[in-house]
Amino acid sequence: MTTADRRTVYVSRTLPELRSRLRAERAFGRSIGFVPTMGALHAGHASLVQRAAAATDVAVASIFVNPLQFGPTEDLSRYPRTPEADLELLAAAGAKHLWMPEVATMYPPGSCTSVGMKGLIDVLCGRSRPTHFGGVLTVVLKLLLQVQPDIAFFGRKDYQQALVIRRMVRDLDVPTCIETCLIVRETDGLAMSSRNRYLTAEERAQAPALRAALLAAQSAFLAGERRPAALVREASDRLALAPLFRIDYLEIRDPETLELRDEPARPGDLVAIAAHLGKARLIDNLLLAQD
Ligand code: AMP
Repeated sequence: MTTADRRTVYVSRTLPELRSRLRAERAFGRSIGFVPTMGALHAGHASLVQRAAAATDVAVASIFVNPLQFGPTEDLSRYPRTPEADLELLAAAGAKHLWMPEVATMYPPGSCTSVGMKGLIDVLCGRSRPTHFGGVLTVVLKLLLQVQPDIAFFGRKDYQQALVIRRMVRDLDVPTCIETCLIVRETDGLAMSSRNRYLTAEERAQAPALRAALLAAQSAFLAGERRPAALVREASDRLALAPLFRIDYLEIRDPETLELRDEPARPGDLVAIAAHLGKARLIDNLLLAQD
């Protein structure tokens, strides 16, 4: 394969087009790795595509800003869209196919079926965004049925999202392995996110405090503190040094069941945070004594 061949990304906009291209790939016995995204791509997305290209024969990415996962007062209409730069990033990261459906292709008139889940989607981001994970699960199941990948790759930045997708795939016997990949960060520790573009210079300067807050809880845990409330206080005191932040949640939970942790906190517990900074709502997380 020449470099020029490798850089070609085949863009499919209709389902028959996508299916016939991927049928051809499968006919050659090639395994398929899939990275769903909402576009406005950055190095975090690129890392998932690189991982897909390394672990499977054909890396497929999708770009679809899914209206179903945005609440009525959220940023659907102003969500950043950078299709040309996205295509370049995908080519450089090793994607061979891009699936870019329109909303009407994904949800034709009359669509009325959705995926539900109890428990896991009601806490953390699900509490402040009550319709969010239903929308995520519905679109991800549709994307998995459309692409039929061997492996699908998700980022751990969206910890709860990766967990609920894993749960759905297990519960519904979807024949795809789910791989969760590490968080890619800016040099100052801020987790990369398409929504970081919303930040003003002043907000961007305070943004690393989100990660610093998690690390404050981590340091206290490593120094022997085991009371969840005390660990949360360490983190919220640190975040208070960046006064532009408004906390949505900051909690310590079981990393699998997402149950709120009673005393004592344990190695591997999830510390998850979401906070508003200007027009952006940012999330981050770490696992105690593991990250
Ligand atoms: P999004 O376009 O925000 O829906 O994200 C698409 C995928 O990229 C999801 O699996 C995210 O978890 C993942 N992702 C987003 N930001 C990062 C990051 N900084 N590091 C690793 N993965 C990420």
